[in-house]
Amino acid sequence: MAVVTGGGRGIGAAVCRRLAEEGAAVAVLDLDPEPAAQVARTLPGAGAYAADAGDRAEVEDVVRRVLARHGRIDVLVPCAGVMRGAPVTEMTDQNWTEVLTSHLTGAFTAVRAVTPAMTAQGYGRIVLISSIAARGIAGHVNYGTAKAGIAGMARSLALELGPRGVTVNAVAPGFIATRMTREGAERRGRTWEEHAAQAAAGTTLRRIGTPEDVAAVVAFLAGADAGYVTGQVIHVSGDP
Ligand code: NAP
Repeated sequence: MAVVTGGGRGIGAAVCRRLAEEGAAVAVLDLDPEPAAQVARTLPGAGAYAADAGDRAEVEDVVRRVLARHGRIDVLVPCAGVMRGAPVTEMTDQNWTEVLTSHLTGAFTAVRAVTPAMTAQGYGRIVLISSIAARGIAGHVNYGTAKAGIAGMARSLALELGPRGVTVNAVAPGFIATRMTREGAERRGRTWEEHAAQAAAGTTLRRIGTPEDVAAVVAFLAGADAGYVTGQVIHVSGDP
């Protein structure tokens, strides 16, 4: 059984599809019930759960319901999160809190909620979503801070949960074609084609990434074959 937050769109939806292809039943958690239901409808054994990933009570309730229905949770992939960019002097407390809450508190809350079940099983795979923005991103101090925090979270949790049979890794995607990057094009007043071409040209592999590129690496880290890999941050960015 796998739980994917932010599973209704973009990278999260691709992760749901890929994990389902590999045989997992997937709990698709998203803020918006409709896209989550659309994803779940196409996947055998999947269920849709509407919840705010940054809300402790809502996430814990979803985990309780998934455990009541399936008895175990083997995989957790917290993908939910938003971008709210602004120069630092114009960044509001709300911008700051919304980004930190959706990404960092969201990942922490989900991990805390599934850890008792994974510990009891003596098995678990947690794959967090960082970003190349962890190395720094101008105009998004909230997002860069959150994604660097996710990398630190992966390493700390790997040390803490490894002795219980739980691996914790992160992937750090580069520029991936999703709503998040489409909104980036709009903010800069560029067409999607211009924005994507510029991102591709700045990448060693000369292309932007797809949600499926990320999902493939997440699926490897979430699978049995990655049992001796923990505390790693794997870049999926078309760059060294
Ligand atoms: P996306 O297309 O905007 O999808 C994000 C999904 O997360 C949406 O379904 C959204 O739901 C959901 N979500 C947002 N806040 C939520 C919350 N508080 N609770 C529950 N669900 C929530 O974005 P994406 O590009 O796939 O991003 C997925 C993850 O990859 C994020 O962590 C992002 O930071 C990371 N990432 C993306 C890129 C990239 O280039 N795209 C690069 C590096 C890292 P609604 O639609 O209902 O709002």
